[in-house]
Amino acid sequence: MLPAAVLEQVQKEFLNWQDTNSSVIEVSHRGENFIAMAHEAEKDLRELLKIPDNYKVLFLQGGARAQFATIPLNILGKSQSASYIITGHWANCASDEAKKYCSIEYIDVRSDLDEKSAIKPIDKLNISEHSAYVHFCPNETVDGIEINEVPKTNLPIVADLSSTILSRPINISQYGLIYAGAQKNIGPAGMTIVIVREDLLGRANDLLPSVFNYQIQADKDSMYNTPPTFSWYVSGLVFKWLKKNGGLANIYKENRLKAKILYDFIDKSDLYFNNIHKNNRSIMNVTFNLYKPSLIKTFLEEAKRAGLYGLKGHSVVGGLRASIYNAMPLAGVEALLKFMCEFERKF
Ligand code: PMP
Repeated sequence: MLPAAVLEQVQKEFLNWQDTNSSVIEVSHRGENFIAMAHEAEKDLRELLKIPDNYKVLFLQGGARAQFATIPLNILGKSQSASYIITGHWANCASDEAKKYCSIEYIDVRSDLDEKSAIKPIDKLNISEHSAYVHFCPNETVDGIEINEVPKTNLPIVADLSSTILSRPINISQYGLIYAGAQKNIGPAGMTIVIVREDLLGRANDLLPSVFNYQIQADKDSMYNTPPTFSWYVSGLVFKWLKKNGGLANIYKENRLKAKILYDFIDKSDLYFNNIHKNNRSIMNVTFNLYKPSLIKTFLEEAKRAGLYGLKGHSVVGGLRASIYNAMPLAGVEALLKFMCEFERKF
């Protein structure tokens, strides 16, 4: 979801943006209105995330999956290996792509994951000093797993924050590089945000396409090529919405409450269950299953009839999933809860 207030503003000014008699998707990205808007979006994002001055913020294309490949090509430098902490589906995908460019040290923190067990403590791992960086995914969107610690290492930490960015305050200076596809808490699909510490720039592989070269994009204010203008514009409005609504501290409070309501209910239920340890349950993606799996189809059909969409779990893990990103109001979670309660009573 995107915030209704943002969508309404987009609708209101879609045909005539800032009195230009043009839509925001028609004006030049090099015109003064667009440049001013783009700078303001970056300023607001920096303010929300408290991004230190020695980090560049890039607004790129290709989604998070493009970053899976372009991160090693940008920052490996002379090194030939990187460490990947395997927390779930997306960490697997990221390492699969990176292994085309370097050797991978896999650090499996889930190998002995059994019912109700936690992820191994991520801040106590033994990470090879020969790696160029260590990659991890603090919120595994598909698995519904969240990791609240950051690895302890002298290596640059690279984090895929696609499904958790802006859901809570974070300490940017713990990371060398953060990246996130826009389409969850940031704005519409089509844009990827990369926040990169300056010392990691300027070491790209010669074969890396220039549009993905962090140094080139940083030098050109992310306008080496035509940027995803609509996504950038709507994201800027989302940043303003977040600032107006108490910033990340407040949205974190709301997000925790929304997730707690669901998990508390699931834990008490005789029909629904979630096997992830309480310390590692995602507050963005609440995955759950039914003790009677044959009822999943009926659950989804009835949910749709009740106006509740997108509850099917990812095909990799099956089951059910409620993705409750920033813009999902508490009322949406309460509606789901009411439905789940009624469904359990009925079946
Ligand atoms: N990483 C994570 C954590 C994700 O949730 C997703 C998408 N759901 C991706 C990577 C892939 O993103 P994209 O489709 O933008 O390439």
